[in-house]
Amino acid sequence: MSTPPPDLPGKLEHFIAGQPGESADGGTFEVADPVSNQPYATVAAGGAEDVDQAVAAATAAFTGGPWPDLPARARAAILNRIAAGIEARAARIAELETFDTGLPITQARGQAARAAENFRFFADMAVTLHEDAFRSGTSQFGYVIRRPAGVAGLITPWNTPFMLATWKLAPALASGCTVVLKPAEWTPLSAGLLPEIMTEAGLPDGVFNLVHGIGEVAGAALVAHPGVPRISFTGETGTGRAIMAAAAPRLKGLSMELGGKSPCVIFADADLDQATDSALFGVFSLNGERCTAGSRILAERSIYDALVTRLGSRAERIRVGDPADPGTEIGALVHPEHYTRVLGYVQAGLDEGARLVAGGNRPGGLSAHLESGNYLAATVFADVEPSMRIFREEIFGPVVCVTPFGDEAEAVALANATDYGLAAYIWTGDLARAHRVAHAVEAGMTWINSHNVRDLRTPFGGVKASGLGREGGPHSLDFYTESRIVHVPLGDTHVTRFGA
Ligand code: NAD
Repeated sequence: MSTPPPDLPGKLEHFIAGQPGESADGGTFEVADPVSNQPYATVAAGGAEDVDQAVAAATAAFTGGPWPDLPARARAAILNRIAAGIEARAARIAELETFDTGLPITQARGQAARAAENFRFFADMAVTLHEDAFRSGTSQFGYVIRRPAGVAGLITPWNTPFMLATWKLAPALASGCTVVLKPAEWTPLSAGLLPEIMTEAGLPDGVFNLVHGIGEVAGAALVAHPGVPRISFTGETGTGRAIMAAAAPRLKGLSMELGGKSPCVIFADADLDQATDSALFGVFSLNGERCTAGSRILAERSIYDALVTRLGSRAERIRVGDPADPGTEIGALVHPEHYTRVLGYVQAGLDEGARLVAGGNRPGGLSAHLESGNYLAATVFADVEPSMRIFREEIFGPVVCVTPFGDEAEAVALANATDYGLAAYIWTGDLARAHRVAHAVEAGMTWINSHNVRDLRTPFGGVKASGLGREGGPHSLDFYTESRIVHVPLGDTHVTRFGA
């Protein structure tokens, strides 16, 4: 058992039209923490009726409330107050997130800070948002009016749940949409803080609604609901496919942020100290449960053996343990089901003949109170062939594959040899080559000689099976708004006279 944070809520409820409440049918499910794997709370299990009520509240706040037409400055003031509310609770958010997800506390603190920044950033975007105008010579003029799309359905995963919820909430609210958030069922705890943060900030009732529940029930009801024109989804590629199919009959606007299997390409002329640090951090931070994890390290053959040795010995020293301990580098994996899945990939790697260099099992020396947790030592597989499942499929845990390449062309071919295309990391001292490879690698986001540092203005998203659409800065606002064009003649209107 780990020590739970003080004052844990014993039950988590929906929040609809400014009021907390149970499910219409009284349904609940239990949620456990990943260290004890014992239930700590009962959560309202939303169904179609709860989603109906939440969408009705969001619709009323959209059509009858002040929110969509509030002057940008007033809307931004509320978003900034939400950011302040998050900052005031940053320590609490981090401790709840760590307890619920198993993320190391130092990394959870960073996520809480980023959540506040999401609101501050989109508050600024709201006041600088402009609408285009087009002049066609001297004859015609057109101007764009940008309207919020309506009720946005926001469906989030269990990795960094609070931060990812705010990454959708902030632009949706900045755009003037009203929202229904459906958090992941394995990690509902931190979302429970949002109602009081939103209310305290002065967000009108019904603008923010929260429905807990199982994906295939509550999530599916939100996707199918005729009153929800936008669905922003972050999660697995398979779930994304199911959501796209379910949304097709109603032609909903979809933003799909899906899985990844991102390459970290290291050439012999790179700064190998930095590249090693970055490669290790890139795959083992956030427990490896990170969509942009550099989970395939591709190393030029002349440095391959030395790099494998170095990655192995560093991985063995990575501190795995109590997520609440500030010294912990890898915490507990989120859920026993996910833990079993990740261990299954370790077994698949062994069965397919990859060479296990580090980890592969529970770390030794865990103190007795951690024995029940979902722990896996930082795991490094070398000599991984592109045909192997561990090379192609997303593991979403602290497991990295290392594969050698001969030349630039082979590096690019290997980098592209998966269905995914979310991120890529390139390490080389040759700047021209860095850009060539960056252009050739199929990835929505590439970092050259650096790790995953985000600029919130830039397009975030993947190609291939990693997603559809972009979030970030103006891309998010485009998604949550409809641009409509109004045409006006500047002089006489000449019309060809049919039937005259
Ligand atoms: P998941 O797809 O299992 O679940 C995500 C959310 O979808 C949950 O809230 C779940 O309840 C809901 N859901 C499940 N089935 C549904 C359905 N039929 N209809 C509607 N909603 C449904 O994903 P996960 O396991 O929670 O998260 C891990 C995945 O998320 C990984 O693949 C990871 O790469 C991906 N991810 C991607 C990004 C990105 O920005 N590209 C960021 C973080 C995580």
